[in-house]
Amino acid sequence: MVTKVEKYVIGDSINMMCSACDVEQNHLIQTATKQGKITCAVCEVCATSSTFNRGVKTSVAMGKSKTASPYDRTRKYRKGQAMMHSHFGQGEVTAVIELQKIDVLFGDRTRRLIHAQE
Ligand SMILES: [Zn+2]
Repeated sequence: MVTKVEKYVIGDSINMMCSACDVEQNHLIQTATKQGKITCAVCEVCATSSTFNRGVKTSVAMGKSKTASPYDRTRKYRKGQAMMHSHFGQGEVTAVIELQKIDVLFGDRTRRLIHAQE
């Protein structure tokens, strides 16, 4: 009898439930044991990390490792930065358009916001 054991390696992505997105998302494996058990994976969409305790997924409350801080128009954003917008929710900067304009992806919609305002 052959038992198939799934082994995971760091850098692999797996599809699993994201506690923050509340849907299944691709997760990038951050850490795994020598036995191939995932110990930490990060959601590719919202960057929330989930940890695994003895094979049981326990979600880490947002704000433990990668925090999306509230959108602040006076702040200067860079591509890839996460933010929490009071209207649109959590987003990620996809591009810096001009000195004071950024494109931010919220869910599946990109919105243009201002930043670096004095
Ligand atoms: Zn997520």
